[in-house]
Amino acid sequence: MSEYRMDTQCIHAGYHPGNGEPRVMPIVQSTTFRYETSEAMGRLFDLEDPGFFYTRLGNPTLDAVEQKIAALEGGVGAMLTSSGQAASMLAVLNICHAGSHVVSSSAIYGGTFNLFYKTLHEMGISCTFVAPGCSQEELEAAFCENTRCVFAETLANPSLVVTDLELFAKVAHAHGVPLIVDNTFPTPMNCHPLSFGADIVTHSTTKYMDGHAVQVGGCIVDGGTFDWNNGKFPMLTEPDESYHGLSYTKQFGKAAYITKARTHLMRDMGAQASPMNAFLLNLGLETLALRMERHCFNAQKVAEYLQNHEKISWINYPGLPGNPYYELAKKYMPNGTCGVISFGIKGGREAAMRFMDSLKLASVVTHVADLRTCVLHPASTTHRQMTEEQLKEAGISSDLIRMSVGIENIADILEDIEQALQKA
Ligand code: PLP
Repeated sequence: MSEYRMDTQCIHAGYHPGNGEPRVMPIVQSTTFRYETSEAMGRLFDLEDPGFFYTRLGNPTLDAVEQKIAALEGGVGAMLTSSGQAASMLAVLNICHAGSHVVSSSAIYGGTFNLFYKTLHEMGISCTFVAPGCSQEELEAAFCENTRCVFAETLANPSLVVTDLELFAKVAHAHGVPLIVDNTFPTPMNCHPLSFGADIVTHSTTKYMDGHAVQVGGCIVDGGTFDWNNGKFPMLTEPDESYHGLSYTKQFGKAAYITKARTHLMRDMGAQASPMNAFLLNLGLETLALRMERHCFNAQKVAEYLQNHEKISWINYPGLPGNPYYELAKKYMPNGTCGVISFGIKGGREAAMRFMDSLKLASVVTHVADLRTCVLHPASTTHRQMTEEQLKEAGISSDLIRMSVGIENIADILEDIEQALQKA
């Protein structure tokens, strides 16, 4: 399948029906799978034979979508999860335990920040946050003897900061640890983090991959290139007594990380995707290439329109020349970034609220990255309790509007923005 181009793989990768089988990937809505003998099933439990036996650990519908996403990202394997949050959590927990340390870009989704700053901290895993635009020396300084991974987002939500993936990968590898990259916003259509040195890729498939806002889901992709045999990852190289002394690297080679994520963490923690959600996600993936092209086209037009508008005080979109991340975006996402932009309106918080309340086509929702244009005003919603001073510290100005530009006709989107700006 990999000889096909990306847009063809979006449609065909992962599912290849045999003679007389359903052309459309079926939903295998079964928790369990039948075997002739206990002996045959026992071999699956010992990871001696491949096969499905319980949907928490694997299911044909999930498997097909996992293969599609692995193909799109260029990885050796993937695992769907119940949410993007679960993907981030399991990606880190697969190689970290109490006493481990994580280096993370500070420009990450708020939910991931909380996961690292609070929940993992409470579990004994500490995290040092670095500025996304830090120098190599500043990044080096964040490492400790117990650092076990580096985490960043290709294109951060909501700041739209572009991570210098090659720099982060180089420094991570020099310290013998992998780089985990959340590639939710650009999707594999616009960026392949694995080709820039990342080792593991995560996704909130809730966003563009699904694209229709019908399921919450996540995914972890294993690049299969990181060499775990440097003494820092005994959980992958040394015998696992819960599988009769099996070593993941010895038995599964390049797929050691993703096999352990499934057979160890998914076995013990759950957080698996449902077959129904995997089916819905696959419908979205089939049109991902078309939709991303249109999201980027529309967002670029909106950004250019707002840039010259008298009522706009500032605008942040990496596709605009002059944006601090324009050059990095061109390097890592030459075909476009995504459909999300942020901007401020003259008149501050009140004007922003009036603008949003006046929109007719675009809706006010907490979601981003689906096919309907939507907006969010963090200062009056997600960050409502904060004072002006606290908002400033969090890098969220009180006039900031996050717009997720959809795939409607661009003329309709611009007309809606214009009529609302007139009322702001
Ligand atoms: N990563 C990014 C970049 C996100 O934007 C989000 C959610 O907005 C997540 C992870 C978490 O994903 P989910 O909401 O599917 O749990």
